[in-house]
Amino acid sequence: PLPQVVIIGRPNVGKSTIFNRLVGKRIALVDDQPGVTRDRRYGDVSLLGLDFQVVDTAGWEDEEPDTLPGRMRAQTEMSLKGADVALFVIDSRAGLTPLDEEIARWLRGQNVPVLLLANKAEGRSGDDGIMEAYALGFGDPIPFSAEHGLGTVDLFEALRPHI
Ligand code: GDP
Ligand code: MG
Repeated sequence: PLPQVVIIGRPNVGKSTIFNRLVGKRIALVDDQPGVTRDRRYGDVSLLGLDFQVVDTAGWEDEEPDTLPGRMRAQTEMSLKGADVALFVIDSRAGLTPLDEEIARWLRGQNVPVLLLANKAEGRSGDDGIMEAYALGFGDPIPFSAEHGLGTVDLFEALRPHI
């Protein structure tokens, strides 16, 4: 089976846009409204010498903002089983939220390597959010823009040791 990379993060940070960018098709539904990804989606990626399966999740969506209800959380927890890497996505324009911190806390307790992807980092409007993201303790955030296609090479270099 292919190594698996699971995309994790609060609603609206751009998980599905990243998934589509990696897979090269619009498989996942992208929307301004949180909660459009109803279940997990799988896509195969073969790029820059890496072959892996990427998983788009919606574990923290469809719920009250900033809460972690058990049912949806259990789904994300399940999607992490068998994962080789978790791609933890934040919105570098919005900066860190309490829900980001809570997901980070949860991820620290999981037995899986975490890469921190600072999405929406096009232009300079993400600079403050990227600085904040260092505090999460997952190493250097990788600046990325799924919408503009920036950061792919850096992401793949970070993935390479885990795949
Ligand atoms: P999800 O809820 O985490 O799956 O987020 P989506 O992929 O549905 O995206 C939420 C919103 O963020 C949409 O309006 C996207 O167009 C927007 N978005 C995604 N990636 C970027 C990016 O790199 N830059 C900017 N400015 N917006 C983005
Ligand atoms: Mg989504």
